[in-house]
Amino acid sequence: MAQRQTLTEKKRNRIIGWWSAIGLLCLVGWQQGNPALWGLAILVWGYYQMFAVPTLCGVETSRGTPCRFRAYGRLMACTREPSHDVDKRNVLLRLIGLGRPQRPITAPAAGRPRRAGSAAAMPAPPFEAASIESKQLFLAIVSIVITAIGTIATIIQTMTA
Ligand SMILES: [Zn+2]
Repeated sequence: MAQRQTLTEKKRNRIIGWWSAIGLLCLVGWQQGNPALWGLAILVWGYYQMFAVPTLCGVETSRGTPCRFRAYGRLMACTREPSHDVDKRNVLLRLIGLGRPQRPITAPAAGRPRRAGSAAAMPAPPFEAASIESKQLFLAIVSIVITAIGTIATIIQTMTA
């Protein structure tokens, strides 16, 4: 009967599995002289970096320190804090110009009576945009750029082959 793997062994085996697949694609691509296989290796590497690599969450918390919980993939956030997933996605989408701009809560519509001391009359809470630790953000951008280059190169090579 097979022994049960510990969590650390499972993690290690998963990392070995990914790198074996990437290495194998590189080796086969090199031996066959097929550039499309190199592109495939880059795509597998990119997928691994963006969605599977063990890393840190890195979302800046309200205390100003980056979140130190585990995340799997540079585009992913930790599962301990559900808001980090939304924060990280918003930061990355804003980078490519697709994110919704974060706005403070708007004042109630004109014409509605305001009662002194009511919640509506209170000033809006200070605007706080979420951010990601610069190192995590840099690695995420590098992964995206390399994957994009790999994808474009593979398409061009496939079309010109
Ligand atoms: Zn987190």
